[in-house]
Amino acid sequence: MVVAQEFLLQECKNLRDLLDKTLRYKYEYAESRIFYDECSERLASLERAIGATTDADALGHEVIHLNELADLICRLERSSISEHSWPFVHELKRIASAICTEDTLAGSNTPNEIYVLADGGLHTYRIHPEDRRPSYTKKRLLTIVFPKSLKHFVLLHSILGHELGHAIWRCSKHGSEMRQQVETHIREGVFASPAATAAHIYSHSAPSKEKTFLGACDPQMQATTLFQGFADWRAWCEEILCDLVGLVIFGPSFVASECELLSSMNPAMTGFGAQHPPTAWRLNYLLDGAKILGHDARPPVSHPLRADIDAFWAHLEDFRSTDPWYSIFTEDQLRRALNGMKALLSRYPPAEYPIPTFERLEHLVPMLKRKIPPVGFRIANDGSLNCENVDFRHILFSGWITKASQPTMPVDKINQLCEHAIMQQIAVDISLAP
Ligand SMILES: [Zn+2]
Repeated sequence: MVVAQEFLLQECKNLRDLLDKTLRYKYEYAESRIFYDECSERLASLERAIGATTDADALGHEVIHLNELADLICRLERSSISEHSWPFVHELKRIASAICTEDTLAGSNTPNEIYVLADGGLHTYRIHPEDRRPSYTKKRLLTIVFPKSLKHFVLLHSILGHELGHAIWRCSKHGSEMRQQVETHIREGVFASPAATAAHIYSHSAPSKEKTFLGACDPQMQATTLFQGFADWRAWCEEILCDLVGLVIFGPSFVASECELLSSMNPAMTGFGAQHPPTAWRLNYLLDGAKILGHDARPPVSHPLRADIDAFWAHLEDFRSTDPWYSIFTEDQLRRALNGMKALLSRYPPAEYPIPTFERLEHLVPMLKRKIPPVGFRIANDGSLNCENVDFRHILFSGWITKASQPTMPVDKINQLCEHAIMQQIAVDISLAP
């Protein structure tokens, strides 16, 4: 037996020991059973694969799986601390369970098992979509990570709509339908090919601050080599589709949280990353997309909320980069891609964002202004209680409207009221259930 194989088989034993001690009988039995059985099957499959080969390349492949399984078990352990906004997570899981399903040995529509934990700062919003697994057993175990510093900041949590996009992209049931949107609608104009995207970035029409950024980059990074060495064009396409998924799922609060978070993490709003297209491109197509989807509808001028809703969209328009170089999709192209995402998500309620009536917002926003959690209940003149279902995304939208229209109201207070509202709304929904 070669040293590597012996070492890796010992690591399998170590992992088995770790798994046996992870939440085994300490927490709710049924839940821990799901991941225990799933991880046990994966570990057994890895042990068999490692025991059956001494080939260096094959063993190297199994090391990756082994490390990923160890990371997963550690994330599951940490998820038990429950450092997150549980009302928000309750709602997020309803959406994710509906759309993140797979064909597996256990059934053709198996929902993923979802675990949540908090870690790090602003850049840590993410989902671990498990695109590689040692065996195709019963379930994907999705782990969703919130920034620990923002664990109760529900207003920004709409960002996770984008992360759900990554989970869908890697989901055997819907991934190909999502990638089809790229082939059919995104691959035109600026995104016709990696060469076309690079040509746009290095075009003479690029704004001077972008040229300055490119001038400061590695000389190897040129139009002809950009997507061969530095950046991943397919990853950029995935990011764009995930942004569109986030918009279709969370609506205006997704646009608001992307604008505020991305512009805060990249205050100069220039440049791009290896995996991500330029921030300013992203914010522009999200603002355009919200219009196409009718999310920016305004009530009549005489409506009591007209000025507040105007203030919200005017604030978001401040994040738009006006130079035409930043608008990379035609309206028709964006409309077709968004319709494609809507066609997919609308089949899995409650995944698609329901546009609220103005009456709904007229009920919620004034409650927030009076520092009352914006919830679907009111006391009638005769003292009776009228309860109604309110989608948590409408609570978040009312929070963002209030933030834009009431600049003297502390944002953390608005956020706190919204988090409590989502929790109270869950109770209202229980009372409404038959
Ligand atoms: Zn992403």
